[in-house]
Amino acid sequence: MAGFITRLKTSTQQFFGRVTDKFKKIAVSVKRWHERYKERRRKAKTIRETRRSTPEYKPEVVDTEIKTQLADKLNQINEGHVVEHIRALPLEDRKEFFEETIVPLVASTMNADIKAIEWFDCNTSCAIGQYCDTDQSIWLNIEYLSENDEYLLRHMVNTVIHECKHALQNDAARGRNTHGYSQELIVAWYRNINDYITPEEDLEAYVKQPIEWDARCFAESVFPTDIND
Ligand SMILES: [Zn+2]
Repeated sequence: MAGFITRLKTSTQQFFGRVTDKFKKIAVSVKRWHERYKERRRKAKTIRETRRSTPEYKPEVVDTEIKTQLADKLNQINEGHVVEHIRALPLEDRKEFFEETIVPLVASTMNADIKAIEWFDCNTSCAIGQYCDTDQSIWLNIEYLSENDEYLLRHMVNTVIHECKHALQNDAARGRNTHGYSQELIVAWYRNINDYITPEEDLEAYVKQPIEWDARCFAESVFPTDIND
């Protein structure tokens, strides 16, 4: 009888041990699910609010200064006809022109610390360009550069300015260099970089979020994509 009771106690303990483990695992996965759910709701709220917003572009003193200098320098290329200059070159020379003239000229005038220029094609992404802060590189889409369309070629130059603006935003938000931007703007950039909305998540909110709106408006102010504007 004593042996039976001991066995019963042991098996009961084993049972509760296993059940408790199982409940603990369930509790952990419910908690994780709840955290993911809360994060999705929070992100959805940010996207909704950004989509509804009417962003304004308020260039700061540093923007106005860079804009004037950069527009002047770009205007000196081929007597103000930079796109015609690009169009006259074969693709390999266009690449070289971007790597050795356009990107260094834009980056140095903007004081953007660009450490590398990389190329990708539409198999990777249909974007025209991208800035990667991990290695402070600029990525440009080679397929658009091979086109002869004026709008697309203007867009390539405009994109270099846009991506260099992302470099300045990241410098300021990550405490590397304020570049003279106001604390208010840096805080907005910092928040946005840590809560970035991708075009896949929502295209309208992507365009309207602070760092994209700022980069877009700044690049357009220096080198408009639509010359008929
Ligand atoms: Zn951008």
